[in-house]
Amino acid sequence: MTAQGITVLGATGSIGQSTLDVVRRHPRRYRVVALTAHRQVERLVADCLEFQPLLAVVGDAATADIVRQRLVDAGSSTEVAWGESALVQAATLGDAAMVMAAIVGAAGLAPTLAAAQAGKRVLLANKEVLVMAGELFMHAVQQSGAQLLPVDSEHNAIFQALPTDFSRGLTVCGVERILLTASGGPFRQTPLSALAAVTAEQACAHPNWVMGRKISVDSATMMNKGLEVIEAHWLFAAPPSMIQVVVHPQSVIHSAVQYSDGSVLAQLGNPDMRTPIAYAMAWPERIQAGVAPLDLFSIGRLDFEAPDFGRFRCLQLAYDVLDAGGTAPAILNAANEVAVAAFLDGELPFLGISSLNEAVLSALPATAEGSLADVLAADAQARQLAMAMIRDCAFA
Ligand code: NAD
Ligand code: MG
Repeated sequence: MTAQGITVLGATGSIGQSTLDVVRRHPRRYRVVALTAHRQVERLVADCLEFQPLLAVVGDAATADIVRQRLVDAGSSTEVAWGESALVQAATLGDAAMVMAAIVGAAGLAPTLAAAQAGKRVLLANKEVLVMAGELFMHAVQQSGAQLLPVDSEHNAIFQALPTDFSRGLTVCGVERILLTASGGPFRQTPLSALAAVTAEQACAHPNWVMGRKISVDSATMMNKGLEVIEAHWLFAAPPSMIQVVVHPQSVIHSAVQYSDGSVLAQLGNPDMRTPIAYAMAWPERIQAGVAPLDLFSIGRLDFEAPDFGRFRCLQLAYDVLDAGGTAPAILNAANEVAVAAFLDGELPFLGISSLNEAVLSALPATAEGSLADVLAADAQARQLAMAMIRDCAFA
């Protein structure tokens, strides 16, 4: 078997590292072509020395100089580049048939879209890409014949529970509903009055998953589930009314599909991202992911409850922007990225995240999604407004 080339965008993050762990377990099957990171020099250098990619990309020239010198000193021939166009270059290198899209946030849009346009197998973790530019991205996938495999655990579970020809249309396939499970995050049972004072450390302490800080905060506000509703809408051509969020605190059922004959097909597993990553990498085959088998006896019980849209307003905002369409989801995504960064920096209280998102959405009218430039313009405008509102305390 010739090893398949894989490029990992966002290699130093939580998903990137889990991906490299799966690659490490299958050295004859996969070979790393390019790795990208923002500023984490140590991690990137170690990974380059281990996996010997052709190209490593970082965020700025100074970081590139440091990484290049370290690699030269260690006798590595990996080329080092920096900036947005180098990210696109990494995403489209001919040697890689597969691209793991695991950059966090809007920064991943251009390279992930480029990978889709280049006809790669795109392993999509970076859900913000579909939230910002779902129509553009799905169109690019169709035009180029790229394969799109969802890595987000819920969407990977749904993909596993749907028939392989689901693109004929969910209703045609007898699908009645997508049951998108949510752990409920660290504040599932925290009363609204106590949410006002929660800290970044509390918000990042997810009960079941270890993840990057942005998605951890998104899980705490349930914005993450909202972004996932939008992600499911685009991935599976599912109208919002067909997507039901089900709070399931144990995170054992990763999501399910309800059919017209009364069947519900679910995918279960321990909460470890290496399972959906390995599934997306090897599909339609299955490979070892290093994940412990699920022990139903030790789990004992599975619980379910309805989400509380009153305490978790970000979840409702996601359904609202899907209704509004056009650039509304991109505006919400941009406001939320600014809000989460401000919360993590101690500049915004936890409940300020949903208030700011709502204020930016009501101030900016959505337009048609249009081109990548239109989406990026809406993103930039929403970021500016969100930052100005934080500065002026002009929301509540
Ligand atoms: P993370 O913060 O751990 O890692 C992010 C990666 O992106 C890092 O390699 C970082 O260097 C890179 N990066 C950050 N800013 C960048 C920029 N401006 N330009 C280029 N690169 C940049 O995040 P994560 O938890 O691995 O999440 C990555 C993506 O996967 C997110 O979109 C998240 O929603 C999604 N996701 C994550 C999980 C999880 O379990 N961690 C699960 C499902 C989906
Ligand atoms: Mg998820």
